[in-house]
Amino acid sequence: MPREWCLDDFELARPLGKGQFGRVYSMRERRTGFIVAMKVLLKSELLKANMEHQLRREIDIQSNLKHKHILRLDTFFHDETRVYLVLEYAPQGELYRQLKKVRTFPEWRASKYIYELATALAYLHRKHVIHRDIKPENLLLGCNGEIKISDFGWSVHAPSSRRNTMCGTLDYLPPEMVEGRSHSSHVDLWSLGVLCYEFLVGHPPFEAKDEAAEDTNDRESTFRRIAKVELTIPDHLSDDAKDLIRKLLQRNPDQRLALERVMLHPFITRHNGVGSSKNRS
Ligand code: AMP
Repeated sequence: MPREWCLDDFELARPLGKGQFGRVYSMRERRTGFIVAMKVLLKSELLKANMEHQLRREIDIQSNLKHKHILRLDTFFHDETRVYLVLEYAPQGELYRQLKKVRTFPEWRASKYIYELATALAYLHRKHVIHRDIKPENLLLGCNGEIKISDFGWSVHAPSSRRNTMCGTLDYLPPEMVEGRSHSSHVDLWSLGVLCYEFLVGHPPFEAKDEAAEDTNDRESTFRRIAKVELTIPDHLSDDAKDLIRKLLQRNPDQRLALERVMLHPFITRHNGVGSSKNRS
């Protein structure tokens, strides 16, 4: 029978951060000394926000995934008041923070991240999972600075026509999702294009000028720009980078470059030595 875990099996190493529904700590497993990240969620908060179902789905999906660029969910347990998710520890933290520090990444670095994301998304899509919330805040970095996709709170099994309540930023959502149409795994290709742009330019391509898009006018303007694919790519980007971004940010989901072709695109192969044993996954 699988072993039942409890809080006493771990000791606190240090707090890592605070999310929407609870806190995250690094913890040491007492028996082995193994370091994990533990996300502690209050049941009362989950119930209040009606998130119980979403959390169950997140656990169900993430615990069945095993890929070097996807954050592993090792196990979970609960007591009367809390749910504890035992996650792989990502020592280099959020990619978002690193990007804010340097504003833009050089092309080799953006290319490495896009390649790692493409391998992880190809794995997810083969398992009929769509992430639907690929953005820098949901990307963590492992001990060698490698990408770890986290936060499967919005993920679903494909295909989906479920409407997104769109409470967060619109910036990474494709036209079919902001317009509330049915969507497929091709939504993640769009987000990959948005990320590639943001890595190289320093902000997402359809962001309203005044940012802090809480403002209704800003949301409307982002919405309109996404729906019309109003894309302007700065001249200083290489032709390869521009080409990849344009091929991913296609309004028609079926015309977006497939992940296998993303991995073979010159913007990726130029920097990643695809085909060498290091990059075979
Ligand atoms: P979240 O609740 O997922 O938004 O996480 C809150 C914060 O905790 C994030 O901003 C991260 O910096 C940190 N964090 C979450 N999960 C991990 C992890 N597996 N490894 C390292 N830091 C993490």
